[in-house]
Amino acid sequence: MTRNLTCIVCPRGCQLQVEFAANGAIENIEGFTCPRGKQYAIDECTHPMRTVTSTVRAMGGEPVPVKTSRTIPKELIFACMDAINAATVTLPVHIGDVVIANVLDTGADIVVTADRD
Ligand code: SF4
Repeated sequence: MTRNLTCIVCPRGCQLQVEFAANGAIENIEGFTCPRGKQYAIDECTHPMRTVTSTVRAMGGEPVPVKTSRTIPKELIFACMDAINAATVTLPVHIGDVVIANVLDTGADIVVTADRD
């Protein structure tokens, strides 16, 4: 079996082909231009991770942009969004303020990405 991926590590967007053996192990990877792309393919096929960006409600103000402080497992994105949607901040907030610490026990915090008064 072959899986086609687009490397998202840099804007070049190399097209990767990952071949799997019958037992599901990665057998061969082609299409990467640098080692980061090969590692991305391995990670994406074994334990895909993502940074989540969103907004959180603010008391008496516009929604505040937030993101995870580090990547989290891809399968937790929807649960992470539920946690963000249930949260509220009180203004003012500043870049780096923690809205949710250790979201879903991932080790990632939900942090503010813009100053709001
Ligand atoms: S393989 Fe390397 S050059 Fe190609 S998109 Fe990924 S990081 Fe960029």
